[in-house]
Amino acid sequence: GAGKSTMARAVAQSLGFLYIDTGAMYRAVGLKALRSGVSTRDADAVARLVADTDVDLRVVDGDPRVFLDGEDVSGQIRIPEVSVAASDVSVVPAVRHRLVDLQRAIASRNPVVMDGRDIGSHVLPDAACKIFLTASPEERARRRYEELVGKGIQGQSLEQVLADMVYRDRQDSTRALAPLVQAPDAVRLDTTGLTVSESVERIRAIVRTRLDHEEPAGGACP
Ligand code: C5P
Repeated sequence: GAGKSTMARAVAQSLGFLYIDTGAMYRAVGLKALRSGVSTRDADAVARLVADTDVDLRVVDGDPRVFLDGEDVSGQIRIPEVSVAASDVSVVPAVRHRLVDLQRAIASRNPVVMDGRDIGSHVLPDAACKIFLTASPEERARRRYEELVGKGIQGQSLEQVLADMVYRDRQDSTRALAPLVQAPDAVRLDTTGLTVSESVERIRAIVRTRLDHEEPAGGACP
């Protein structure tokens, strides 16, 4: 909603790093629950489901794609029902453990730009550069609404998008395990009123400053 995937993707591309969209992984599990008829709020059932689920990120023709049990679900995970299902299943510890293990494994093998709500605070506490993106709820809802309209996904009003966003923010910020918080060493960037390219430029400046101050052994500098 803060435009993080668009920005993270652009930054990854300019650094030549792999872009990892962790939200897409939670969405894939949410989609599987919806398809299987499992209640996304039944933690035991969701835990059983994720134990038997394969989520994979692959770059296809330069495009990052998410695969659920071998099927490319990159388009289907963007519908509003899946957003809510993703937030619901992300509360389940078994889901988080499974996906976080996978995310850490990918980051240990590649220089990455990783996008998600718990990356700086939990998944990669030693990341060379952490950015905490924010924007006002109204602006985030407007961006998400325009994105949905742009993708031809109809049926939700701007008010409904805002209501879903407030629901998810509350659930994501108050859950017991790895809630959405800013890491103490993250740089906060409020993108309200900024265009995507202005935001990307600011992020690139922050990355440059941070990576310049890294010890050479810190690794992932371009
Ligand atoms: O970022 P995105 O909107 O695609 O994420 C969908 C949902 O997945 C979020 O609302 C959140 O509940 C969950 N999520 C998470 N941790 C992450 C990324 C996403 O809990 N690192």
